[in-house]
Amino acid sequence: MASLFREDSYLRSCRAAVAGSDERGIRLDSTVFYPTGGGQPGDVGILRRAAGDIRIVDTIKGAAPDEVIHVPEPGAPALDPSETVTAEIDWERRHRLMRMHTCLHLLCAVVPGAVTGGQISDGKGRLDFDVPGAALDKDEIATRLAALIAADHEVRTRWITDEEMAQRPELVRTMSVKPPTGQGRVRLLEIVGVDLQPCGGTHVRRTGEIGAVTVAKIENKGKQNRRINLVLAA
Ligand SMILES: [Zn+2]
Repeated sequence: MASLFREDSYLRSCRAAVAGSDERGIRLDSTVFYPTGGGQPGDVGILRRAAGDIRIVDTIKGAAPDEVIHVPEPGAPALDPSETVTAEIDWERRHRLMRMHTCLHLLCAVVPGAVTGGQISDGKGRLDFDVPGAALDKDEIATRLAALIAADHEVRTRWITDEEMAQRPELVRTMSVKPPTGQGRVRLLEIVGVDLQPCGGTHVRRTGEIGAVTVAKIENKGKQNRRINLVLAA
């Protein structure tokens, strides 16, 4: 199983052979579909094939490491093992998810305090911060985010070993999501000079690509929990 989105999040489609199909969904020998994880929803899209296209309505992780399950729409025809398809994601939606996901990394750099939760959906995203009592200034957060976006910082990934990760606990900003160790290496997402943390999601190449973002509202979710909601402005 090759998860092509890990090396290149801009891939929109790939040729792939069907590796298996059961009641959970379809497995391919390689894919550009990102499975739900790390607060980012799974991709939707189409498997193009001579015998008729199949709509994929969700993508989830399987039991095996790096196993990706493509969930077809109800009533979709069964695929033959070793049949070849073109797997094509809904790129417009994915790109909005990448923009918001990258913006949430910027938000981590702007707001002090541990991240206790988060969620991304199409056009929207939020992070919860453990900020004791402090009132967060919505306008100040919006201004600082806009500056980081306008500065067009480079966004890149690199890998470190599990041992290096264990020696650098300060890298873990998100208390609710443990970095995916156990495979010998951990993927770090670096916004150069701004943010560095383990992340397996998909991101844009430069912060300028995020575009205009609005801080929609800041909610109190418990004594030390502040939820910051962001919306893509366009
Ligand atoms: Zn990320």
